[in-house]
Amino acid sequence: MATLPPDAKARLKETALRAGAVACGVASAAAFEPLAPAGHRPGDLLPGARSVVVVGGAQPRAGDWIARSPWVLESMSTTERIQSVGRRVAQFIEADFGYYALFVPPGTESGMNPFVSFMLAAELAGLGSRSLAGPILSREHGMLYWSVVVTTAPLEADSPEAEPACPAPPCREMWEREGTTPCLKVCPASAGGCLDGRLENGRAVRTSYDRDRCQTRVHTHWIGGFQKALEQALDEPDRERRKMILYGDFFTRTLWAVTYSSTNIAQCFECMRVCPAAHGLRPLE
Ligand code: SF4
Ligand code: SF4
Repeated sequence: MATLPPDAKARLKETALRAGAVACGVASAAAFEPLAPAGHRPGDLLPGARSVVVVGGAQPRAGDWIARSPWVLESMSTTERIQSVGRRVAQFIEADFGYYALFVPPGTESGMNPFVSFMLAAELAGLGSRSLAGPILSREHGMLYWSVVVTTAPLEADSPEAEPACPAPPCREMWEREGTTPCLKVCPASAGGCLDGRLENGRAVRTSYDRDRCQTRVHTHWIGGFQKALEQALDEPDRERRKMILYGDFFTRTLWAVTYSSTNIAQCFECMRVCPAAHGLRPLE
């Protein structure tokens, strides 16, 4: 068996940051055992998995978050850019350390189920914690996109974060004042939205999340939308209406998303747009 150099983890993190990540952490593969469903644990993908390396980055810029047009954020998802960093990390582990490294595909294995939960991996690797709105928030960087590599290398694991970024101080104040938080207010389950929850002893407690409803708003111009519009076009007997479906804005945007992948993958973002913890710490003018 190859022996890891004593500075293996530091070198790995340096490689990830040089490749474009803003955060990199390591979780033990064993830590997934009690938390992830069978079939979606690191060892289910890679025989002999010992560690899981998580890189985060490619997040929207501060200017994107405050853009006047909602179409700015909705038209330029950068989520796949962090995947090239994950591939670089996998390549580095195999080439420099001599251990197997499996880049976890960012898509789903079946239905809406990922191969391995990236959110759980980021939490276990100490890179952030789950927010009331859903996404993992890093205290330092806010909302990030994630890429995950499972490896047989016995890397030292990082500890999960002790203090979550959510609820942010302004959310605590808002809860005292109005009994809600920015994310709950913008997408309330009780009024056609997806989120419900409360703050309890200063901690966020999520009581409901309508995943199916959220998915239809987040992935509007993605594969599901393509399938739905195509079915409608095939069922439409009127030639002019069929043309409207196929050449209209919705189907055109969807094709941009599906074929170019960096355009219009994710559309909603509203719970993160209003979240004071999602955009990083550094104030800008
Ligand atoms: S992404 Fe949009 S639809 Fe989903 S929970 Fe957030 S605000 Fe609601
Ligand atoms: S707005 Fe952000 S920080 Fe505030 S409660 Fe919602 S997810 Fe948490």
